[in-house]
Amino acid sequence: MNGHSDVFAIPLEDEAYLVYAPLHGVAFAASEAMTAAVSDVLAGGQGDASVAALVEETGLRRRPRPPVTRRRGTPEPTEVTLFLTTACNLRCTYCYASAGDAPASYMSMDVARQGIDFVVANAKRQGAPFAGVNYHGGGEPSVHWNLMTESLAYAREQAGDLEVIAASAGNGVFTDRQIDWMIAHLNGGMSLSFDGLPEVHDKHRPTVRGTGSSARVMHTMRRFAEADYPFAVRLTVTAEQIPLLPDSVEFVLSNFAPRRVQVEPAYQLGRHEGEPDAETEEFIAAFREAQGRAARYGQELLYSAARVGTVSNHFCGITQDNFCLTPSGNVSACFEAFAEDNEFADVFLYGAPDADGYAFDMDRLERLRDLGVENRSFCDGCFARWNCAGDCYHKSLAANGRGEFVGSQRCHITRELVKDQLLTRIAQSGGLMWRAGQETPCAVHGAQEGAASELAAAAAGGDHE
Ligand code: SF4
Ligand code: SF4
Repeated sequence: MNGHSDVFAIPLEDEAYLVYAPLHGVAFAASEAMTAAVSDVLAGGQGDASVAALVEETGLRRRPRPPVTRRRGTPEPTEVTLFLTTACNLRCTYCYASAGDAPASYMSMDVARQGIDFVVANAKRQGAPFAGVNYHGGGEPSVHWNLMTESLAYAREQAGDLEVIAASAGNGVFTDRQIDWMIAHLNGGMSLSFDGLPEVHDKHRPTVRGTGSSARVMHTMRRFAEADYPFAVRLTVTAEQIPLLPDSVEFVLSNFAPRRVQVEPAYQLGRHEGEPDAETEEFIAAFREAQGRAARYGQELLYSAARVGTVSNHFCGITQDNFCLTPSGNVSACFEAFAEDNEFADVFLYGAPDADGYAFDMDRLERLRDLGVENRSFCDGCFARWNCAGDCYHKSLAANGRGEFVGSQRCHITRELVKDQLLTRIAQSGGLMWRAGQETPCAVHGAQEGAASELAAAAAGGDHE
């Protein structure tokens, strides 16, 4: 808007506007004339008394400090993510990692022990409230079962009185014995990949033998729900499955009880490279219809880059010294750079084990720290800037190459869904204005906040299968 670069006038239909001030935590709908009047007052004009009062009351004349944080010095992480293996018991058609296509690698207990010792010692020295141990990677963590259970037992033993919060991402194809252990030991919760309607899921997520895996995942979700165990569901949508997304979301919410449901278009990498694009207008329309169905269950669907309520310069952990270990023990900042031979390993791998713990490549780390949205000139002027925070850098590299960030089709999806979230919050706040922190708590937002430490593996990054 004229007079204030952090207040945006976003066109809606019928010549109306959505006035959004992300740093003030304010949004309201306004006519074209009202929007022009607010802009005039912000630029120094007198304006109509009611408009001047509105600007005063909302504090829009203030210039809040941008929410920019940056890590400094040598990393001293208190959480580790272990990429246990590149092996997988499924052969998903859209797997970004092409898991199972190449010989698998497995982490050793020595590698896990060194990472755990490092974060537990850091957490104790810093007086941190807990140490974190998460499981993720370019394969299915539970396939390396002995290391999963032994490493967590070791972490708890080393931590002593210090709490260990442990979480995992997984494909949900577990045995009952594994489910029992997860419920008992993974106190941070589980993020499961499940695509909704069984026929949709089975088409894209077959087992190594080529049979559908939906029955196994549904069994896991039922067991988790019976135990009131916190789990999130992530649906990956391919182009041809977009029309079925609303039914898929309804199927999940009417049969199971996930704390969160995330929906993402399939990533055109790995086995899905060259397949039809799902980042389309059709995706937005289907997401909106699915959101309408989810609302009946008190849920708000998540899309990784549309995050009203989060105001940050970081999209994910890559700018915040994310400490993940490849099966060989090297340090990666990115969940999709899980091995030394990944295409962008030279961008995201920033450390290696040594006799004292880890040696960090500080030049590489500073380049990652530099990737906050405040340094992305393409994002200047985008109203979703502090919510999206520049989106997934790995996707940007894959789509745009290593040159300057130039956005992607995802930007349009992000802005449309941020707009939807704002309109929903305005409606929930009585229809006139949304102010951050003043909305009526609902089951969804309560659940999201409560899950801040739960489901930590999923939350640590933006968008992961
Ligand atoms: S969100 Fe993107 S950049 Fe961040 S960890 Fe995940 S894949 Fe890597
Ligand atoms: S320009 Fe694109 S990547 Fe940047 S903040 Fe906006 S939506 Fe996100």
